[in-house]
Order: sequence, then C-alpha cells, then structure tokens
Amino acid sequence: MPEKKNTQWVIDVRQITKTYQMGSVKLQVLRGIDLKVAKGEFVSIMGPSGSGKSTLMNILGALDQPTSGKYYLDGVDVSQMSEAELARVRNRKIGFVFQNFNLLKRTEAIRQVELPLMYAGVPNRTKRAKAALEAVGLGARLNHLPSELSGGQQQRVAIARAIVTEPSVILADEPTGNLDSRSGTEVMQIFQRLNREQKITTIFVTHDPWIARHTDRVVMLRDGRIVADQKVKAPLKAGEVERPTEAEELQGVFEEVYYGGKREEYN
Ligand code: ADP
Ligand code: MG
Repeated sequence: MPEKKNTQWVIDVRQITKTYQMGSVKLQVLRGIDLKVAKGEFVSIMGPSGSGKSTLMNILGALDQPTSGKYYLDGVDVSQMSEAELARVRNRKIGFVFQNFNLLKRTEAIRQVELPLMYAGVPNRTKRAKAALEAVGLGARLNHLPSELSGGQQQRVAIARAIVTEPSVILADEPTGNLDSRSGTEVMQIFQRLNREQKITTIFVTHDPWIARHTDRVVMLRDGRIVADQKVKAPLKAGEVERPTEAEELQGVFEEVYYGGKREEYN
C-alpha cells in the first residue's frame, strides 16, 4: 500500500473524469469532479437520471477507476491501484448499502453480518456481528432469515453488515428506495444515529429530496459535473417531522433542495 498522508478528508477527489468507449464513440460521463468529504459528514448526492451518480459512487467505492484525476481515500491514492489492491481497499474501508438490500436468502442475520469479517480474516466474528446487529436495533433478531424480517429490518441487517468492519465510509445507493415511508424513516433513524454517535461518514445517493433533507450536505450532479454543493440549513431528524403529503408541500421541498433548473428536469 502507498504511504498514508495525514489528512482530515476521508474522501478527496480531484478533477476526476470518466469516459466510456462505446464502439467508436466516447461518452464522457464525469467531467471533472472535485469533492472533499470530511470525517463524520453525512452527504447526499442528487441529480437527474444519467447525470453520473452511480458512476461516481462506483469510483468512490473503489469498484471502478477514473479515466483521469486523483482519488485519495483516507489519504491513500487509490486512483492508480490494481484490481487486487482495490479489492483490499473495498473490504477494509468501504461499507456498501444497496437499494435491494443484497442479502443472502437462506442465511440468518448474524451469519450475513459475519461474512465481511470472514473475508477480512478478522477474529471474534460472532461477537462483533452481534454488536453490529444490536447497534441497528436487531439484537433480538440474530437468527432470523430475510424472509422472516420486514423490508426495514432487512435493510438494517445490510447496514449492520456494512458497519461491522468499521469502514472509513458508508456508501448507500438509494437505501430507502424500496421501502415504504415508515420503514424508510426507521432506516434513516439508524443512519442518523450511527452518524451522530459513532461519527460514521456516510454518503447517500437519493432521488428523494425528503431523504436528502435528513443529511447535512447536498451535492447536486448534472451532466457529469457538480452544479451545487451546499449545507442543509437545518437537517430534519428522522421520525420527528411527518413527510408532507400535500402536493404543495412536496413542491416546496423540491424548490428548497434542488438548485437551479426546473423541477421536471429532475424526474
Ligand atoms: P445516474 O446514476 O446518475 O443515473 P450513471 O452514472 O448510471 O447515472 O450513468 C451516467 C451515464 O453513463 C449514462 O448515460 C449511462 O448510460 C452511462 N454509463 C454508465 N455506465 C456505463 C458503462 N459501463 N458503459 C457505458 N456507458 C455507461
Ligand atoms: Mg444510478
């Protein structure tokens, strides 16, 4: 591993571009992204479909390499690493949470959460997995299969699996996208608590401005560029304010969170 620099930035991305070669055509998906995320921040990434959110998350998660530019994760330059080195970084430094949970169907919760520890060759796996499940409020569901859990509980198992290795950052792509609003609130409460109490750096992709208002900072992508990057003035606490159901109120949320452009362009 390259030498680690002393840094306050968990994520430090400098002028990253990503170009896909489609036959004879080059498609530039990221056009010079600069993004710094400090330890303990809770950030959401928003933007229209096709703006490059997933491409950026794949690079942040060391699943893919940028075409040009630098990416320092925890002070280590990962933008030139080999596939084997990247896999090691992913395992040690990144916790992933997916929209569709990605749990093994016939595996009980405690074993799901032990898996990343097995890959990392870490001792005390059962004890640590149990602690992670307790941290997400599932201490009484250790031996349940996914089919025996609600959607919100399944996503909490996935969150436990993401935090059990004590990663530098949690990356979540639409983690509440498949949940009803009550389960979504439950999952947001867990993310907020982990962020507040354990200072877990968290980055969300979300289409949902209501969810984004529960994070500290919104980064808006458009056509492969960051077009806005702002603190959320007074982040909402999950469960404390009812999600507005009236069309007018929703409209207000959109106007507050989306900067520039017309609302239609973000759908
Ligand atoms: P978002 O997540 O914001 O919807 P993506 O990052 O998935 O956007 O995609 C951005 C653009 O890059 C889209 O036009 C998409 O078709 C293109 N793209 C994504 N992945 C690939 C790939 N592996 N090969 C070619 N084009 C891709
Ligand atoms: Mg996407």
